Amino acid sequence: MKLVRLKPGRDRPTRHRHPWIFSGAVDTVSREPEPGETVLVADAEGRALGLGAWSPASQIRVRLWAFGEEAGGALDDGFFDARVAAALAVREGMAERFDTDALRLVNAEADGLPGVTVDRYGDVLVGQFATAGAERNKAAIVASLLARTGAKSVYERSDVDARRREGLEPAVGLLAGEEPPGRVVIHEGPVRFEVDVREGHKTGFYLDQRENRRLVAAAARGRRVLNAFCYTGGFGVAAQLAGAAAVTHVDLSAPALGQARRNTALNGLPEAEFIQGNVFQELRAFRDRARSFDLVVLDPPKFADAKAQAAKALRGYKDINLLGLKLVSPGGALATFSCSGAIDPATFRMVVAEAARDAGRRVRILRELRQAPDHVESLDFPEGFYLKGLFCHVE
Ligand code: SAH
Repeated sequence: MKLVRLKPGRDRPTRHRHPWIFSGAVDTVSREPEPGETVLVADAEGRALGLGAWSPASQIRVRLWAFGEEAGGALDDGFFDARVAAALAVREGMAERFDTDALRLVNAEADGLPGVTVDRYGDVLVGQFATAGAERNKAAIVASLLARTGAKSVYERSDVDARRREGLEPAVGLLAGEEPPGRVVIHEGPVRFEVDVREGHKTGFYLDQRENRRLVAAAARGRRVLNAFCYTGGFGVAAQLAGAAAVTHVDLSAPALGQARRNTALNGLPEAEFIQGNVFQELRAFRDRARSFDLVVLDPPKFADAKAQAAKALRGYKDINLLGLKLVSPGGALATFSCSGAIDPATFRMVVAEAARDAGRRVRILRELRQAPDHVESLDFPEGFYLKGLFCHVE
């Protein structure tokens, strides 16, 4: 096996089981490995630290599959099967507990499988293989998933930006089993959603918001709900089914709104209000017309991809929360989110506090929110935590 030796003093994160090795930490490589090839990582003295996948095109040069003792064995199909089995074991009973047939089964680094994301939508598994190492070991991982879950299809949605940074082309299509239906119907408790596994965002749906959708729905009875950045309707459809007095969905994307409309009908609900437009403008227009809502949901896309864009992102979050807060009726609620990993919860809270001050509203946090538990987080990999939110009472 080819050997990657780290510079002196650069082995600490690896000893602490952090799965990334940046190019600057690499001292020597015995022979140039192929993209995704498994390499042995050692410290400056040559002591073995782990086994990882070589990514020649990425700043993250090695992603570790195994650390310490675990790295003694071979990285064969059995290794990847054991990793998949462990990921499924962590989620044992979750589908029943959350009363759903849609679950994240593999959450990349946090499940010891860097670059690999797998979501289950009923009988269909959708996988993203974002790195050279994930790509190289795809067949073994897919075979294990198929055997262990009994899914009918494994479909690939490796059309993520991260692949470009790895020098990989996007890859979309059937990996195993039968061609999945155009739209897969899933349920979250009593709510049903159609998921477009071929065209939908990410693997098709925002499963990370499942528990938060439930919380919003539980607060929605009799309330006028604004679902800003609604995508395929998630929060608003759940709220309407739970007895919201009225629901207004806003999104830029016509196909997303079309799907939101179908999801409304799928749940036997009367037509909601669907507005295609820019949330920043539409919320100003509501304000100008003195329109108010009793429950406002703000779930914008990632405003910051990296720490460098954090300042601009913070302005975006401040603006949107200021606009949103102005629309909340006295005694109403705000559910506000940030899915930018580069923005930590304390900073997000500060931005919402500034928005509240500027809006002249007293805002109290009833609950702090995060990504659903199937989006497992590892203490060794803080980068895996990204979705944060606040459920607030607004005076
Ligand atoms: N709340 C959704 C997920 C939101 S994803 C759910 O639970 O499923 C973010 C959405 O914001 C996308 O659908 C995207 O089309 C939309 N979007 C991005 N920028 C926007 C803008 N400025 N105005 C309106 N919608 C926007």
